[in-house]
Amino acid sequence: MSPTSPLRDVNITEVQDHLYIGDLEAGYNEQQLCRYAVDCILDLSNLTSKEVLAQQIKRCPCTCPMSSKHARAKLNVHIEDKDDVDIEPYLEEINTFIESARKKGKRVLVHSVHGKSRAAAVVIQYLMTHQGMSLRDAFLMLRKCRPIDMARGLCKTLEKLEVRLFNLAKPTVSLLNEPGRIQAWA
Ligand SMILES: [Zn+2]
Repeated sequence: MSPTSPLRDVNITEVQDHLYIGDLEAGYNEQQLCRYAVDCILDLSNLTSKEVLAQQIKRCPCTCPMSSKHARAKLNVHIEDKDDVDIEPYLEEINTFIESARKKGKRVLVHSVHGKSRAAAVVIQYLMTHQGMSLRDAFLMLRKCRPIDMARGLCKTLEKLEVRLFNLAKPTVSLLNEPGRIQAWA
């Protein structure tokens, strides 16, 4: 897929060929998951299926022929949705999930409720940890695809992580002062 024309919908966006980011609906719209050939779902919404139903999410069941039924892998990671949250303790499990999918040639959707805060931070840390991207490059790349509005704690975790990963004196971007943190299409 051409990097200049990523697949994009209101609720799901391609970040890299094997990596997608989206909102709650993206995680439950089976037809869309089929269309995007997403086999693995990392769910950061902290919602049970019952709670999802209560949100009146459009559940579009898969209509693919029986012969091509999917067995989608799903990992739920409960990261608290609060401003000072530290995601560091969850990263190993998350990255193992994404990387093992990638190695099998499968696509992963990372979704939270709105796909702007926790999902964005998880994608950015993955790009730094496994693709060697700087925080600045990962942030700008993601912001091009999707509105981002990360909680302060997530921004701080990402800055700390970059400094540690690349042995820097300071992060390549200060996310807390970055105007793009405000919801906007870059
Ligand atoms: Zn299907």
